[in-house]
Amino acid sequence: MDTDSGDTPPPNAGKTAASWARARARLRQEVGDVEYRNWLRQMTLSGVDGETVLVNLPTRFLRDWVRDHYGDRLRLACQAEMPGIRQVALRVQAAGAKAAVEEEVGEPAQLAENVTTAPLVIEAAPAPAAAATDSLLRNDWLVPLDQRFTFDTFVVGKPNEFAHACARRVAEGVAQSGFNPLFLYGGVGLGKTHLMHSIAWALREQTSGLTVAYMSAEKFMYRFIAALRSHNTMEFKTQLRSVHVLMVDDLQFLIGKDNTQEEFFHTFNALIDAGKQIIISADKAPNDLSGIEDRLRTRLSGGIVADLHATTYELRLSILQAKANHAGVEVPARVQELLARKIASNVRDLEGALNRLVAHAKLFGRPITLDTVPEVLSDILRAHDKRLSIDDIQRKVAEHYNIRLTEMASARRSRAVARPRQVAMYLAKQLTSRSLPEIGRRFGNRDHTTVLHAVNKITELMGEDPSFAEDVTLLRKMLEM
Ligand code: ADP
Ligand code: MG
Repeated sequence: MDTDSGDTPPPNAGKTAASWARARARLRQEVGDVEYRNWLRQMTLSGVDGETVLVNLPTRFLRDWVRDHYGDRLRLACQAEMPGIRQVALRVQAAGAKAAVEEEVGEPAQLAENVTTAPLVIEAAPAPAAAATDSLLRNDWLVPLDQRFTFDTFVVGKPNEFAHACARRVAEGVAQSGFNPLFLYGGVGLGKTHLMHSIAWALREQTSGLTVAYMSAEKFMYRFIAALRSHNTMEFKTQLRSVHVLMVDDLQFLIGKDNTQEEFFHTFNALIDAGKQIIISADKAPNDLSGIEDRLRTRLSGGIVADLHATTYELRLSILQAKANHAGVEVPARVQELLARKIASNVRDLEGALNRLVAHAKLFGRPITLDTVPEVLSDILRAHDKRLSIDDIQRKVAEHYNIRLTEMASARRSRAVARPRQVAMYLAKQLTSRSLPEIGRRFGNRDHTTVLHAVNKITELMGEDPSFAEDVTLLRKMLEM
């Protein structure tokens, strides 16, 4: 087929050249002029071989860069403009133009060493098409960063201010931060991934040419297993160790995966020793991650460990306010408050609820009101309905009246303990779905009539004594919070 045999243009050369020009234009549009000029302008079409577009780049460094950062987009652009194309092979063209290239591209000084060293520059005969191309362009190390996850959109509050400050610090000065590794941990949907992407965006913006590799621990594992299978671990290691910043999200997925952990440990050490920045997230602190080797645990805690605490009502409300400002429809304050109160466990669900309300309002052209919330979000609200246990109630009430928890089940009848016990029974009836006999059993095996009596007694007292009523209402509110 038509390849880059040089002098004699293949029959379809004109058409191919035009398609290539369109593919480049498409790419340029996608990545913007600056990036295009920096990295992609040096590409030249060398030919088409069956389903493969052959593209030359002047240096190995540029070739690797294009492969790592634009591989998929390049392939897609070619596929869009050149029928029948399935892959793109990137090759290093014979040297020659090297000096000029380095100058024009203007790589940051720190990367210069990657560019040259004689044996690397010219990759004489490219390896036979298929296999080589595959490994070249199927490089999906670098998961695309989410555009929405930046520092600008991250709302800071008490529960996350420390983690946020650490992330900021790392985003300012790689590795010199002294915060290396940065270990972020916290429950689901509290903003770990958001913070990691924010750091990546900030670093990229600030230092062009910095390789920031972000991946999930799962991906790390799959890639490693694939490399083992294809006896390609050298390439795996080299690729990973060439990055400037490595981010591994959800490290808990490596638990119990001994081989992968071992490899991760070595990568980790190699990067830290080379002064590269590492950022890790997990659902627990290093010390609480069981199934992680001790030596890795020690290294993970060797930099700075920052946790994202469960959100508070205030933080949830601020996040909602921030998001509601961009919603395009009015989200009444009362609705925001309701959501912040009801959906307490994680921000992702909170966001999901808001998005659904907004979508619903736009779709049906109806304003969002307190009444639409239960209708549109019934399933979400139900899932987040707080399951109060009788234990919770007994504990809170005992604490409130300053009696011992054991008095809840004791036989003592003195007013000082009997009244609080009745309050607890009353609240258990009001706030849980337990039956009277069930409640009785949990209060020292009392009869259901005793519980009924307590409920009536408390109701009566509340009607007579406003300050007592206030007290019980307050307890109830605290329990419902
Ligand atoms: P995690 O990785 O900890 O499970 P994510 O970072 O994926 O959580 O966050 C879940 C969702 O909640 C994302 O859409 C994220 O933007 C949002 N989110 C979490 N915390 C905040 C915050 N403090 N400010 C704004 N959005 C947040
Ligand atoms: Mg995450």
